[in-house]
Amino acid sequence: MLRVAPVAGETTWSYLSRIAGRYGMEPAALLPWWTWTGSRPRDDLGPRDDAEILLNPAGQQRLAQLGGVSERALVQALPAFTGEPLPPAPGSPALRGEAADSGRPAGRWKVASAGEHGPVAYGCALCTAVRSGQDSVVVRYVAPWQRVCARHQRWMLTAGDRHRHHHLYLRAAPEVAAAQRAWPKVARTAAAAGADPGRVFALSHAVVCAWWEHALEWEQEQIWPVRLHALAGGDAGPRFWWWRIVARDAVVFPETVALAAVLLDPGMQERIWDDHGRGGPVHPFRPDGAFFRELAVRLGRPWLANTGQAPQTGLVLGGPLHAGPLLDCMGAFTRIRRGQQHPNGYGLDPWWLRADHRPASARVQLRALAEQAGAARGSGSNGGGAPMVRRLYRDRHGRAAMVSYRRGDGFDLGSQLATRPRVAGRASY
Ligand SMILES: [Zn+2]
Repeated sequence: MLRVAPVAGETTWSYLSRIAGRYGMEPAALLPWWTWTGSRPRDDLGPRDDAEILLNPAGQQRLAQLGGVSERALVQALPAFTGEPLPPAPGSPALRGEAADSGRPAGRWKVASAGEHGPVAYGCALCTAVRSGQDSVVVRYVAPWQRVCARHQRWMLTAGDRHRHHHLYLRAAPEVAAAQRAWPKVARTAAAAGADPGRVFALSHAVVCAWWEHALEWEQEQIWPVRLHALAGGDAGPRFWWWRIVARDAVVFPETVALAAVLLDPGMQERIWDDHGRGGPVHPFRPDGAFFRELAVRLGRPWLANTGQAPQTGLVLGGPLHAGPLLDCMGAFTRIRRGQQHPNGYGLDPWWLRADHRPASARVQLRALAEQAGAARGSGSNGGGAPMVRRLYRDRHGRAAMVSYRRGDGFDLGSQLATRPRVAGRASY
């Protein structure tokens, strides 16, 4: 009997797939051991890597037998083994809990990232190989601030995002791993202030992702382009837009952690209060106010607060660091400080993130990119008369360069912009 140890946080489907691998089989060959509800999640590219399965007790027992481990070990390692209603056994009434005793192994399909345990990412293949002696892919539930394998200097990518890349190399961008080392202190600060660290991270990430879109217009920006090319293996080259989507969360990770620390810093909250008028007549936040000036310095980009230079367009406040979720957060701080009240706490939660402020996932953006490419092919190499839009960016040597892409109904005006805050009075890019 062979034994396959589960990896902590692994999806049940990932574990089942690895068992099949040890038997020298495709995962599908093991499926007849269970009766299934639903079908394996797939998209136009094939089966999704972020599939998950929920098993009834008899089904869990069967999996433990096949894996040669105790059910207890699986309960401890596999998040999907607990916490969700059991699938009804086939042929029996769908009475929750009773299916447990009906004795026939059964399972139900779902998409892992849509579940309560959060996003799933690929595990580090080198760590898995060391652990299991197997050259196999692990998919596990892991928080967005735990994507760095410090041992092997890799960023583990989200699974199921319409690309088959598992990781990015971080050796040329050590600041990404450093940010992960810095995060626990930020999380402790958040918890001490009564905030949920996960919500603080999500808000900070949304703000930085909005900047990521603006940054194509930041003429002095050097940090992100250099880091992006580094994570793309040296040069994103002709796949610039693809890499810009796939590597985004890794590239902006240091700024995400830095911004979270800034927002939790009482001194910075004091600057917000100062800029707002200290309880007297309300002043609108200015891009060259004390808060934004210090924020720009802490981001390593002091020129961002220099609004006297060429106009930073596309921004309601006239400042390049403007982002809807950031203003919501700052506004909540000032309302709390002013003693404002609302029966439902509306406007008083600095970490509340509006649904339309959530950054588009790589999955959504890659679909839009593919549709745009398809539309360009379908209408001839000139893009069917749609205007080509040229955008400035920094190449890997820090030189200003231009990229061109077609302005149409796809990538640029599609879901990417639809899922981030609209910027008043400007079509953006
Ligand atoms: Zn590793």
